[in-house]
Parts: sequence; C-alpha cells; structure tokens
Amino acid sequence: MTDLQKRLMEDQLNTELFQELVHQGVAYLREARQRHVYPTAEALEQLSVFDEPLPVHAAAAKTILHQLHQVGAPATVTSAGGRYFGFVTGGALPAGIGAKLLGTFWDQGTAMQVMSPIAAKLEGVVEKWLKQIFGLPDSTVAGFVTGSSAANLCGLAAGRFRLYQNLGWEVARKGLVNAPSLKIVTGREAHSTLLKAISLLGFGVDSITYVDTDDQGRLRPELLPEPDDRTVLILQAGNVNSGSFDDFRAIAARAEKAGAWVHIDGAFGLWAAAAQKLSYLTDGIGFAHSWAVDGHKTLNTPYDCGIVLCRDPEALRGALHMQGGYLVTGAQRDGMFFTPDMSRRARILELWAVMKYLGQAGIDELVTTLHERACQFARGLAEVPGISILNDVVFNQVVVAADSDEMTERLLQRVQEQRVCWVGGSSWRGRRVIRISVCSWATTEEDVAVSVKSFEKVMRTLQTAQGG
Ligand SMILES: *Cc1c(COP(=O)(O)O)cnc(C)c1O
Repeated sequence: MTDLQKRLMEDQLNTELFQELVHQGVAYLREARQRHVYPTAEALEQLSVFDEPLPVHAAAAKTILHQLHQVGAPATVTSAGGRYFGFVTGGALPAGIGAKLLGTFWDQGTAMQVMSPIAAKLEGVVEKWLKQIFGLPDSTVAGFVTGSSAANLCGLAAGRFRLYQNLGWEVARKGLVNAPSLKIVTGREAHSTLLKAISLLGFGVDSITYVDTDDQGRLRPELLPEPDDRTVLILQAGNVNSGSFDDFRAIAARAEKAGAWVHIDGAFGLWAAAAQKLSYLTDGIGFAHSWAVDGHKTLNTPYDCGIVLCRDPEALRGALHMQGGYLVTGAQRDGMFFTPDMSRRARILELWAVMKYLGQAGIDELVTTLHERACQFARGLAEVPGISILNDVVFNQVVVAADSDEMTERLLQRVQEQRVCWVGGSSWRGRRVIRISVCSWATTEEDVAVSVKSFEKVMRTLQTAQGG
C-alpha cells in the first residue's frame, strides 16, 4: 500500500470528519433563515485566499474542508433561506439533500443498468411518476439530465431526428450540409437556452421564425405560420419573466395534424400540471412531442436535476445514440440512451426522494403555495406608491417596475444593497423591470412581508431624495 493510499483509507472511514461536515451543513441551513441573502463585501474580499498556486504537497482533508467552510460558506448566496427571489432558483428539500448525500458516498456512474442497478431502477420508476403527474402519453420516456438547457437540447435533437427521418434523410449519418431545411418557429420571448440549443444543433438562430407575443409574453396563436412536416414548433410553459403559459389548446388545433414536431419548454412551469388550482395553465400540453422540465426549480430538488420527456422514444434514442464494442446494453433501462452524456452522476436519487417525500398532495401544496406567496408579494408591492406590477401573476413570477427605467434601476440596486431579499433585474416589453421569482419551499408569508417592507423603505428614501 502506498502512503497516499494509507492516508486515503484513513480519511475515507473518518466518521468524525464527515459528521462535522454534516453539522456545519445543518448549521448553515439554520442560519440561512436569518443571514444576509447576499454575501457582504468582507466575505467577498476573503475569497482572495483561494488565489494560490497549485500546492506541491498534500494537505490534510480536515484542513482543506475547514477552509472551504470558513471562507466559502459566507460567500454563498443564501438561496436556501426564504428570501432569495433571483432568477428562477429553487430551494432544496431535506429529503433531496439527504439522498444526494448518500449518493455522494455511493458515487454511481449511471450510463448503463449494469453500472448501477439502483439508479436504473429508480429512473424507470420516476419516469412513470412524471408521466402520471404531467398527464403525458403512455409512450413517453424520460432522460435525466443536468437541467432544462440540456433537456431543451435533447427535445429539439429528437425533433430534428424525427422530421428528417420522415423526409428520408438520416441526419445522424449525413449531417446538415445538403439536408432539406427545417423551419424553427417560436414566440418572441423564447428562453435563451433554446437559442443555444438551436445553434448547437446547427439550425442557426437566424433560421428562427419568431411569432409575436401578447402583453403577457404568450405566443399569439392567430399569428402562427401554417405548420407543416418541416416545422419544429417551440412553446413555453412558464415565461421566464411573467410566468405566463402559451395557449396550448388553441395552438394544438393548428399544429396537430401538420406533422410538425412540438417541443414545450416547461423548465419551471410544467409543474403547474401537478397543482389542481393551477393545472388549467398546462391544459393541452399532451399534444406535444417533447417537454423540458427541471427538478431543481419548482420541485426544489438540489441542483443539478433536469428532465427531458419525449413521447417518441425512437426519436430520442435515435438522436442520442452511441455505440461501442464494450457497451453492455441490458434488457432494462440504460440511462445513456436518453441523455447526451455517457457518465453521469445518479441525480435520480434526489428526484425520487423528493417526489416520494412529498407525494402527489405535497407537490400540489408546494406548487400552490409558491403561487400564493407570489400573489402576496404582488399585492404588497402594488400598494407601495411609485411601484407597479406589470404582469398577471398566474404562477410564481412577479414583474415589477417603478415609474421610469432609471428609477427601477435605482430601486433594484438599493433593494439588493439592503440584503433583506435578493431580486434580479430584467428587460421586458421595452422596459427595465425587477423580476421576482418565488421558487423555494422555504419562503414564508413573513419572508414576503419583510421583503415588501424592504422595497417600501427603499422607495420612500428614493422619493424623498427625488423630492428634496
Ligand atoms: C431556467 C430555464 C431554462 C434553463 O434551465 P436550466 O435548468 O437552467 O438549464 C430554460 N427555460 C426556462 C423557461 C427556464 O426558466
């Protein structure tokens, strides 16, 4: 045994070391409720201790992890507390954190069933649960990917495969040079990750036909160009600013028989389907061919957890196929046929644990509560003089603006400086806006009330400054 191995073996079975980390982790979560949402300037300055050359000699695991905790934790963004409303950032349910922790010790690669029977098993189980909860067709299969960026890529790759197959062009072999061209159609407010997928897939973003959207960011069905068997139509369940949903029923009526491929980006919004009060928003999604959805946003699994769902298994597998003499494909599920990766960590453990922990009723309650907190936020802010709410709060997103872009920017900056809550900026329908996303199970009524107060306070000082 080498010296290094001796050290590693000692560390590996050092219960104390790992237990201390768990204690620190739980203490972090406890403090997350109270602490500043955004790191202080001092905490950020401290990060310079990491600027060092690659050490020549080994250090003790305890020392390294201690440094990471001491310097690293204060420089985190406290999205684990209840007052982080930036981007669309979900919290993490305890059962998910636990499953991830256990899975960390197991360190499973999940390319093939033979590499991790437990992961393959749970992927199959969760695939059925997802189909049920979203009300998707029986033939639907799921790929467990890093996030909706990857899920959008996979869904569109499946569409590319299928449409070309229908046209007698084997795109995996022949590529795109000389291929018949396809039409990419989407609303003006498609998420940027779709544009990335479109460019990665070789369509080129210039080939997109944009359809105008209404005042909530929904694609206007009456403006949709007549879809045909060369059309990839991309719809949205959850606009990244307003949270609005495209009118799937109206669009289905026009696209269904044309032989087009329909993909729905439902990164955070698809979960509306799981809440009785909100499922009207996703009414009609079942006519699509592929869907992208995240676990790590609305469902509050830990990062990274995304899912591509596809009702045409042959198209998804065809698009993501790989071969090699050493590959052992089983009679059961081999995860790599449903994802771009070969090696992947077993992120299914967290998704399974969270869904089982919440159950159908719990998921409904989680999603409904996010919506209610968003409505509370909007009601509270609407009463602050000088602040208006620009969107219909149908889901978890609130779009906020002051009277001018300049004032909105100032409001945003000052609210961020208060560190009571963290909200992000965006541009929407020609205006600078503040975007609030209520996406964590941890957000309470009190959190929202305190955050609204922070807006109020800032607004008062800004108006006083302006008046005087
Ligand atoms: C977040 C988001 C994505 C990208 O998902 P990731 O999980 O960050 O890769 C795509 N579409 C929409 C609407 C989103 O909100």
